[in-house]
Amino acid sequence: MTDLPTHDRPLPPRRDVDSLVFVNTGDGKGKSTAAFGMLMRAAARGWPSCVVQFMKSGRWRVGEAESARRLGVDWFTHGDGFTWESDDLDRSAGIAREAWRLADRVLTSGEYRLVVLDEVTYPLTYGWLDAETVVARIRERAASTNVICTGRNAHASLVDLADTVTEMRNVKHAHATGVRARRGIDY
Ligand code: ATP
Ligand code: MG
Repeated sequence: MTDLPTHDRPLPPRRDVDSLVFVNTGDGKGKSTAAFGMLMRAAARGWPSCVVQFMKSGRWRVGEAESARRLGVDWFTHGDGFTWESDDLDRSAGIAREAWRLADRVLTSGEYRLVVLDEVTYPLTYGWLDAETVVARIRERAASTNVICTGRNAHASLVDLADTVTEMRNVKHAHATGVRARRGIDY
């Protein structure tokens, strides 16, 4: 029988928190799009929200950026493309650090109720950003600011800090059979 989302165990005592941290990780499709789905909910509640993209270039006209702007979400793109396309790793590292300076500001300012750090795990994996610093700053964020981090191979201390962690597992992906990324589906 399938596992239905019933409560077969007693719930822990109720706990109220000002904000939560989410991590969407794993090798399957859906990490960023799940974060953008939560942005839709936040927009419906009138929450000031923003996205900081760590790895995608502003030159990429991604569909989610266009939709987010229509929802009134601030969209910050600083990356210069995925590293395997970059001919200058130092430049990618510098841009990731620039994205982090911006992220650090929006995490602490309290002006946003939801901040999405899209693909933030990659600069941690490559060592461009210090993972402990990033995790500490997320922990010390403004009390009312919810945070969603996306990207593969989430750092253990980021997973520890987060309240809700979801691992998207790749069962299969069209890309593996030669289908290239598609407008309206992948971007
Ligand atoms: P999406 O933005 O579609 O939710 P994602 O954030 O989970 O994807 P990323 O690792 O950020 O995945 O990869 C971004 C791009 O790679 C997207 O175009 C996505 O469709 C594609 N992709 C995601 N998972 C896989 C996979 N397992 N194999 C090949 N391509 C993938
Ligand atoms: Mg993604």
